[in-house]
Amino acid sequence: MADIILALPQQVYVRVSSVVLSYASAVFRTMFGPNFKEGAEPRTSAHPKEISLPDDDPSGMTHLCDLLHGRKTNGDEQTEDGLAEQLWRLAVVADKYDCVAAVSLQTEAMLSRFLLSTGTAKVHSLGATAYLAGAAYHLERNGFFYLFTKRLVLDYYEPFFVVSSQANHEALQAETWLKLAEQRATARTTFLEELPRLGSDKWCHNGCGGGNKSDDFAQKMALKLGRTGHWPPRLSATPLRGILAQVHGVGTVHIAVKCTCGDAYNSLVAGSSVQALARSIYDSAGLCLWCTRAGGSSTGACKHAEDQAFAGPVVAA
Ligand SMILES: [Zn+2]
Ligand SMILES: [Zn+2]
Repeated sequence: MADIILALPQQVYVRVSSVVLSYASAVFRTMFGPNFKEGAEPRTSAHPKEISLPDDDPSGMTHLCDLLHGRKTNGDEQTEDGLAEQLWRLAVVADKYDCVAAVSLQTEAMLSRFLLSTGTAKVHSLGATAYLAGAAYHLERNGFFYLFTKRLVLDYYEPFFVVSSQANHEALQAETWLKLAEQRATARTTFLEELPRLGSDKWCHNGCGGGNKSDDFAQKMALKLGRTGHWPPRLSATPLRGILAQVHGVGTVHIAVKCTCGDAYNSLVAGSSVQALARSIYDSAGLCLWCTRAGGSSTGACKHAEDQAFAGPVVAA
């Protein structure tokens, strides 16, 4: 049955059946078909034909062939970070050889290992999350891609380009990293600029047209969130998600307004308007797979938004 030996880099050899691989993908079907040099030569399991694949990742290809042949794969002893990288290597090869559909049930189960029972994602290293987003990209799973890119924006504060990890270089394309960095920068700016505005955009109660010149809102927010002296938080040293969840639950904030006309009075910032701001920042994080694969830069306004419900509510950690 195993009539082919795939010769991969690092002296890795995988015995496969041309029938099984041809059934899984059109790329293999062409490779083993009659029009191809290798296809025309006779081959049996006693005299398997060796095919050299010097450009393919040995671990990814071995894993793919194991899945296609229903063989048990090793890797159960790995850490979840190790599994994330292994899954990415598998996804790259599956994409290249048009086998994404043939292994979709298995890869779905593997991706799901990285979710919590609530459907949101567990926290892993930045590199592991990048590998998971890259795996979802190659496996064409929009919901997972959106979820993991959203995690890259909301759950890490480290610079995406300074971290000298292999994962950051290979897991996602440079343009994707740029879009994620841009989303995070915009989210931080929106938070730091729009949130204080909720407290300063107060019409003067005597109609003078002036605005609030006190920073009472920031102080009351800090007090309510138990962050006295630490508001606004340093977003270059804190992930956005926790901050957004805190702000989302802050409720109505009563503030003392000091108008530029000299008048002073009491006012409030409704919890619903603070919530709406936190929600809009949360919703702006994450990339659409189809738009990313098409090279588009828009997010949030595309027609693929239904998959984004997968990411859960803003308060879910
Ligand atoms: Zn006034
Ligand atoms: Zn889209």
